[in-house]
Amino acid sequence: MTLPLRWKVTFGALLAVACSLAIAGIVTVRSLERQHLVQLSDNLGATAKLAEYSLHPLFLSSDQLPSASQLQPMVRDIGTRASARITVVAADGTVLADSAILDEDLPGIENHRTRPEIRQALSTGHGRDIRTSQTTGERTMYRALVMTRSEQTPPVIIRVGFPMSLLERDIEQLTHNILIALGIAFLTALSLTIWLARSVTQPLSDITQAAQRLASGTQTLPIKTSAQDEVGLLAATLNQLADQLHAKIGELSEDRAQLLAVLTSMVEGVMVLDRRGYILQINPALERIFGISRAEARGRPFAELFRHRQLNELVEAILRSRKNQEVEIVLPLTNRCLHIDASVAGGERDNEACIVLVCHDMTELRHLETIRKDFVANVSHELRTPLTSIKGYVEALLDGAMDNPDMTAHFLNIILKQSDRLNLIIEDLLELSRIESGRISFRSDPIDIHAVIDRALSTIKPLAEKKGHRLIASINTRLPAAEGDEDRLVQVLTNLLDNAVKYTPAGGTITVGAGEAPIPRTAEPTGGALELTVSDTGIGIPEADRPRVFERFYRVDKARSRELGGTGLGLAIVKHIVEGHGGQVWVEAHEPKGSRFVVRLPISNGPQLPA
Ligand code: ADP
Repeated sequence: MTLPLRWKVTFGALLAVACSLAIAGIVTVRSLERQHLVQLSDNLGATAKLAEYSLHPLFLSSDQLPSASQLQPMVRDIGTRASARITVVAADGTVLADSAILDEDLPGIENHRTRPEIRQALSTGHGRDIRTSQTTGERTMYRALVMTRSEQTPPVIIRVGFPMSLLERDIEQLTHNILIALGIAFLTALSLTIWLARSVTQPLSDITQAAQRLASGTQTLPIKTSAQDEVGLLAATLNQLADQLHAKIGELSEDRAQLLAVLTSMVEGVMVLDRRGYILQINPALERIFGISRAEARGRPFAELFRHRQLNELVEAILRSRKNQEVEIVLPLTNRCLHIDASVAGGERDNEACIVLVCHDMTELRHLETIRKDFVANVSHELRTPLTSIKGYVEALLDGAMDNPDMTAHFLNIILKQSDRLNLIIEDLLELSRIESGRISFRSDPIDIHAVIDRALSTIKPLAEKKGHRLIASINTRLPAAEGDEDRLVQVLTNLLDNAVKYTPAGGTITVGAGEAPIPRTAEPTGGALELTVSDTGIGIPEADRPRVFERFYRVDKARSRELGGTGLGLAIVKHIVEGHGGQVWVEAHEPKGSRFVVRLPISNGPQLPA
């Protein structure tokens, strides 16, 4: 992890302060040292001059050099007063007197002619040097000057020495004081730097944390800072940015939710493709229509997922031409009929909506259209047959058959029969239309099944007897209570019994049954059911025709039905009434021969009716 900004600022500032203080300290110590040296040198020069002044009369008194016994007390006295070492050296380098040497040691002192300050003084009049003294063993600063006596006598050199140890001690003390001052300055700078770094970086780290929360989507509170400077401005700008972002996100989420709600609730399937033909979005209706899931579809090329030639051609064409198109297709497996509107959405980049396909499921509509067309054709046909017959016989009568009374009576009988048939068809059609349009509402009274069966049987009995059929009623002792419209249920049973009589050769057996349904045929109705059955020993219905006999005008054998006076609408009426009661009706084979029609009605929760 990198160092936090606060410590970077602190360490950076401290380093700068430490360097500055160190440089300042070194420069100060050096310049003070130099100044001390210059001052000491000047002092030594002044002391040398004073010594020369004091000793000069002694050397002027005679041409001879004064003796050591004369010089030594004076030199020692001057040295003590000046706190310096005074040395008097003859021009040949012989030490005549030295305040730091005992009188008896003086003769043994080494010749000083080679000393740098002496050599300088002899050549220029002044000399100086700093070195360790061979006599005292101390580092010493020397200043030397030449004292001239007369032109005939050689000069004498006055040398003043001062031990550097004193100066060095002073400088050491000074350095120590400066170091303490620098240390205090550094400590002050340290605390100031920490305080400053904290006050500058704290708002910044607050802003950083707030920005991180903002980026992770958890930012709710505004950034608080009392800073009035650029940091304060940054915080205010970030707060403003967060507010705008929040508002924008809210707006977008709302738009998205609305769009999703629209897409989800749409009956039409919607699919959005980008310019490459990749699927970006599909809605639940489209998932249902094509039997695909959104997860597997999104991000995949259209052609890879939908292997339908017409659809692929449509998408390719619109991608090429960028023009709206529409097409009607039939899905191979489900036989669903789809009308597809493909419109250009305009996106010109990958993952941008380029085409929107809207699929209208036309299956039901087309089916209804087919039924309507078939119905119109069937009705026309059914009506035309008796009408043609009536017209034919009327024309025959007009053409002269009227002259023959027998023929007239025969023809008029046929015309009457065909008119009855026409009437029957029209009545059935009107009944069916009334039931379908909902103009007839079924009552919901408790049904007395025995009464329903009795009423239906009594209507059919004369017809059955005419054909020599045996009518049997097989009713369970305990029947579940059901509710419904008794008259309509009588109509259901009568239609079924009428068919049984019609389509059973003479001498057959027709059985009406009633009881509780053994097991539900489908998941619905779930709460048990009352089952009414009509079985015959007639011609039966081939398995392929069984689901269709409830369609209007559907007949297994048209000629036979017409001959028997059927309209082709009886079972359609039965189906509508039963379904109007929330029930089901179907036909199955009756062993060993014949048909068995089953009507299943949902039962009410009331008490069971005793037999
Ligand atoms: P229709 O007036 O022609 O009898 P329905 O709607 O009552 O019309 O019946 C439709 C067709 O179902 C009949 O034409 C007939 O072919 C067949 N059908 C109905 N009931 C029976 C039955 N009990 N046995 C054999 N076929 C039947």
